[in-house]
Amino acid sequence: MGSSLTMYISLVATSGVFTVFLCLYAYLKRAEIPGARMFVLYTIAQAVYIFAVSFEMASSTLAEIMRWTMVQYIGMATAPALGLIVVLQYIGKSVPRKLAAALFVIPVLSIVMVATNDYHHLFYQSISFRTDAPKPMTTIVIGQFYVVHGAFTFGSMLAGVVLLIRRWRHTKKAYRLQLATLITGQFMPMAGAFVYLMGLTPYGVDPVPVILCVTSGMYIWAILSTRMLTIVPIAKESIFESMGEGVIVLDNSDRLIDFNGAAGRMLAGLNAGMIGLSLDEAWQKLGGSDFPADRLSDGAQAEFMWQAEDGTPYYYQVRSSVVRGRIGEAIGSLLMLIDVTEARRLQDQLHQLAYHDGLTKLLNRTAFIYRAKQRLSESHAKSAPSSIVLFDIDHFKRINDTYGHETGDYAIQHVAAVVKRQLGPEALFARYGGEEFVFFLPASALDEAGGAAERIRAALAVEPLSAGGETIAITASFGVSQSSPLGESLQALLKNADVALYQAKREGRNRVRLYDAVLTL
Ligand code: GH3
Ligand code: MG
Ligand code: MG
Repeated sequence: MGSSLTMYISLVATSGVFTVFLCLYAYLKRAEIPGARMFVLYTIAQAVYIFAVSFEMASSTLAEIMRWTMVQYIGMATAPALGLIVVLQYIGKSVPRKLAAALFVIPVLSIVMVATNDYHHLFYQSISFRTDAPKPMTTIVIGQFYVVHGAFTFGSMLAGVVLLIRRWRHTKKAYRLQLATLITGQFMPMAGAFVYLMGLTPYGVDPVPVILCVTSGMYIWAILSTRMLTIVPIAKESIFESMGEGVIVLDNSDRLIDFNGAAGRMLAGLNAGMIGLSLDEAWQKLGGSDFPADRLSDGAQAEFMWQAEDGTPYYYQVRSSVVRGRIGEAIGSLLMLIDVTEARRLQDQLHQLAYHDGLTKLLNRTAFIYRAKQRLSESHAKSAPSSIVLFDIDHFKRINDTYGHETGDYAIQHVAAVVKRQLGPEALFARYGGEEFVFFLPASALDEAGGAAERIRAALAVEPLSAGGETIAITASFGVSQSSPLGESLQALLKNADVALYQAKREGRNRVRLYDAVLTL
């Protein structure tokens, strides 16, 4: 009997050494190990427990035994809770502070109960020396709180084992060895604790410290051979949840199956209650219309606008990919939403800068030429006439010289605004250069365009510019040209309009002149 006790004590001591080694390893490598802090605390608790057990074994008086039992409980009561947190972190579940704190309520109570047992005997009803043991050892009669402590210890360990086993199917082969190590590392002490708590061990000896010798040895082996702890698989749910892109999962009938946090944030109102609805039904609830992109084929992408509750427009790019089952059959699809609002805004700004004039926001010369060419060829194709009106502010230099450049700018903006009000939506209006403007009138013959130019000239003449307390009369001269069935180029039309404009200037300004091919020959 004595020799098996010696063996027990030496195994417990080895266990202690292994645990300290694990603790130091996790501490030194804490930067590389996810959840290292909890693992360090877990191994510290185990070490306290193991060493206190060996000191208890070496004690000979009841008072000494009780003192070491007390120390032992500091580690023994907290280790299962810490172990459960380590498992939760390993499988990628977040452990909120409240849950962590709740897990320590019973362990702390157990420690307090053991320390104060003399006053209430709720943990141990009685403790006495055994008569059958080869050395001074105690036997106990358990109290009510001992049952609570036992149930909690066993329950935490069982929860850890169950959580790890449930992970098995979702764990890639490469990680199964470390998962198996963790499962064994949780299961063996649990089985030991069960046997011990049921009072089934010889002399009431706690087998867990010896079991921890085996499991710690396994951990060390797994760490050295598979880099366990430093390479931890990240649970797929965590990846899904922490993605910046929104993900919506649909079944084969386009019904909503799942979505991640980012999708919920991007589409305010999307909630778990909508799971099971078709995508169009869900969208009706969210934004009052069907899903903006048609059913997307695998790999297809589309873009749509989403109006936030405060009215801000967001642009989302949506990509679809097929989700396949075990034998490659399509079982649903995945919509990935990417916020492209910023890119879209930049694109709009670039577009604005490239095709518009900064002062008047009208089309610039380049954009005008590009679009007018298109409209002109459409007119030619229909053999319909179209006209161009070029106009230039009269004596503009005087405005600049008299009132300053800034007022000159206002004058240009004023002219642009007045003319814009006069023109219909079909007209293509642009700032052609300095204080020169142009508009293209599709489906308008020379006379008609001349009439429009005349109305605009009159409107400008009766609407002076008010700037800096001054009222400044502004007039402009207009030249009009019309395309003929011959199909002239835009350049030719612009040149003809310029000839007519020059004629208007020469004849005294503030007038409209029509380009007359015969006259200028
Ligand atoms: P005319 O009746 O013959 O057209 O006489 P004008 O004084 O208007 O002569 P012209 O068209 O040659 O003058 C154009 C002037 O417009 C020259 C330039 O200093 C001024 N200008 C061009 N662009 C701008 C601008 O963006 N802002 C201001 N304030 N002035 C401009
Ligand atoms: Mg001018
Ligand atoms: Mg000019």
